[in-house]
Amino acid sequence: MGKMSEYIEQAEKDLLHLYNRYQIVLDHGEGMRLFDTEGKSYLDFMSGIGVFALGYGDKKFNDAVHAQVDKLLHTSNYFYNEPAIEAAKAIKKASRMDRVFFTNSGAEAVEGAIKAARKYAYLKDGSTDHQIIAMDHSFHGRTYGALSVTGKEAYRKPFEPMIGNICFAQYNNIDSVKALINDKTCAIIMETVQGEGGIYPATESFLKEIRKICDEKDLVLILDEIQCGMGRTGEYYAWQRYDVKPDILTTAKALGGGVPVGAFLVNEKLAQHSLVAGDHGTTYGGNPLAGAAICASFKRYEELDLLDNVKKTGAFLYEKLEEIKNKNPHIVDHRGVGLMQGLEFDGPVADIIAKALNKGLILINAGPNIIRFLPPLICGEAEVTEMCGILKECI
Ligand SMILES: *Cc1c(COP(=O)(O)O)cnc(C)c1O
Repeated sequence: MGKMSEYIEQAEKDLLHLYNRYQIVLDHGEGMRLFDTEGKSYLDFMSGIGVFALGYGDKKFNDAVHAQVDKLLHTSNYFYNEPAIEAAKAIKKASRMDRVFFTNSGAEAVEGAIKAARKYAYLKDGSTDHQIIAMDHSFHGRTYGALSVTGKEAYRKPFEPMIGNICFAQYNNIDSVKALINDKTCAIIMETVQGEGGIYPATESFLKEIRKICDEKDLVLILDEIQCGMGRTGEYYAWQRYDVKPDILTTAKALGGGVPVGAFLVNEKLAQHSLVAGDHGTTYGGNPLAGAAICASFKRYEELDLLDNVKKTGAFLYEKLEEIKNKNPHIVDHRGVGLMQGLEFDGPVADIIAKALNKGLILINAGPNIIRFLPPLICGEAEVTEMCGILKECI
């Protein structure tokens, strides 16, 4: 613990400056609250960008991770390990998908998903000019494959050329998708609820139409649930709200309860007709520490009945944000589901977020004009009420 200004000065000498960080050095957390190195506390409505579903310092989760640290951290994928086997079982049960590949991050899960989709198409006709349809305003990560399907040109432009044969449709506009489909199309990739792009949930009809097109044309549907999965919408995976099952699912962020881990999951058809031994791999993916963290996460979700809590608290948050919206002409829209909601303003929200931070509330934006509400999934009505009180003072 020490003075934040000194740490920050040092950091700005040593770290590559790729983030405009808040002038705060975080030290530890407890439940829904974080503390900086000078002892100030913050109510957290960001959860490390949707990572800390269990909040901070969950004793049973931490004990499980500690125990694995003392036992074995890494094996490589030349061997099996028990935590990864248990984790695969747990994630299959929650997702109802058939096979799992563990990664270390979200972007890495998206990379694997794209490779699996292209390999599936390649095995069908032996050609290598297949196209993938992605969505405007989407976010899939910063590595080349993931960036290539990310629908924000400013993120891509300086790094071109991207991987080839990607085109972009409008989210929730089925005609724009249909217009792009041709004989070379092999896959559609989309978030079930767009996160970074501004908290846009896919409509039920859009999702169902997409699934129908993929079935008719034998296209691979990739649903990226790295942000909206793991209970954020009140179901383990957001597609389960409408029962529109993907062929490939990507998941990360909350999956390891703070331990970095991701995964892509496939159905049995893709498992049988796509990637084979030698096609893909990772040194760290599926290590026992990550496996133990995943298992402990799922166990705590069940013990704490988190999905139910998300439904309840999410509905309460929706009500409270509607009240705020109805009283403020500068708020132009309110969207989202469960504990993934957004308020869109008619101008930039950076000032509101900075003011809230001063008052001990951590919020996050999703684009310049949208405040995103992404609290730990343990969030209750009391914290929502407290958050709304501070938010109202800051608007
Ligand atoms: C965060 C995110 C990613 C990238 O995950 P990283 O772990 O940062 O690589 C991909 N897709 C979605 C929907 C995300 O929210």
